[in-house]
Amino acid sequence: MKLASNTPDWVLAALEERRQQDLMRRTITLDSPQIPHTKIYSQNYTAFCSNDYLGLANHPKLIKAMNNTAEAYGVGGGSSHLVCGHLAPHQALEEALADWLGYERVMLFSTGYMANLGVISALADKNRPVVQDKLNHASLIDGALLAQAPLRRYLHGDVESAQKLIARSAPGGLLITDGVFSMDGDIAPLSELSQLANQHDWMFVVDDAHGLGCLGENGRGCLALEGLDATSLPVLVGTLGKAFGTAGAFVATSNDYADYLTQFARPYVYTTAMSPAIAGATLASLQLIQSAEGQERRDRLARHITYFRQRVQSLPVELMPSNTAIQPIVIGDSKAAIQISEQLKTLGIWCTAIRPPTVPIGSARLRITLSAAHSDEDLVLLCDSLEKVLTAKLLNAERLNPK
Ligand SMILES: *Cc1c(COP(=O)(O)O)cnc(C)c1O
Repeated sequence: MKLASNTPDWVLAALEERRQQDLMRRTITLDSPQIPHTKIYSQNYTAFCSNDYLGLANHPKLIKAMNNTAEAYGVGGGSSHLVCGHLAPHQALEEALADWLGYERVMLFSTGYMANLGVISALADKNRPVVQDKLNHASLIDGALLAQAPLRRYLHGDVESAQKLIARSAPGGLLITDGVFSMDGDIAPLSELSQLANQHDWMFVVDDAHGLGCLGENGRGCLALEGLDATSLPVLVGTLGKAFGTAGAFVATSNDYADYLTQFARPYVYTTAMSPAIAGATLASLQLIQSAEGQERRDRLARHITYFRQRVQSLPVELMPSNTAIQPIVIGDSKAAIQISEQLKTLGIWCTAIRPPTVPIGSARLRITLSAAHSDEDLVLLCDSLEKVLTAKLLNAERLNPK
């Protein structure tokens, strides 16, 4: 039954515009856990677009830890951390994360989006400007908007461009970057940016959503890769919904910053604590990440990345300069990107096309993500299928190559 609609015209017009531009988005329903061999609308696919980089989202140890913690501490947090929602599993997870990364304190947030809103809206304001990379995650941009801070964005990965913008801004601001860029997979020049921030007496904030767990010694992410620590990187944001395989996020920082954020980060103060059962599962995940099994998973992921790049090199597309699990193939046109994604589907490969405004206009892409949960056979299937689709006559190489 269709109800009489009183949807305003501007809503319908906005939807129609998205449709016309091949930019309409909708959810799809997976009838399986988050695993590579997934079932979508009764069809079997091998998926290459999840952020479950280490294959922990469906790991038996996490499931068991979640069940055990739920038995002991229940499901709901029940209130914010500051009222009575901070339970023993939250505290244990915060302490373990702080130990792992070498920070005085860790604070849990309900999502990475909220962590970034919280940190930036608390630390920036009209007089404390924000300078950040052009390709930073949307939540970092939105944090600066929420703070009502002057916001300037430097050329991607360009330290000189960042320096110019800092020189033009009021003193004492925030320099903010993704560690691994979420849509390109490359890594920011963190040690140079850290020095730049230090020279100008600015705060340096890094969001390492895609590096933590996957990269560096013990999976400590970009921090370990670039030789940074709690002094050179005073505020580090990490998310738990990617390599950790659970949900939520955290900020690793000093006692003083943590005390300050506890007072002034509104997305921390005015929201319910994450489920204690999720905290229990995440603690199991962290133990796994630090174990020999975690290292094996990182090694397998690295082998997949090497194999993928070798194979795609010979195809009529350009690889991005990425050595991480994020291996995008830029198609350019949104319609062409959807077409390629559909053709891959007929070969049993699921990889959603990523279109503007998530990526810049004219750079729609297949954001292929690799996982330790993929087998060598999965990688062969992916590369064989890409070869078939990308060299097919119906798509000429020029259109595929935006440059
Ligand atoms: C995914 C992501 C976030 C958001 O984290 P959620 O926990 O999914 O809200 C923040 N920053 C970056 C760089 C991300 O890729």
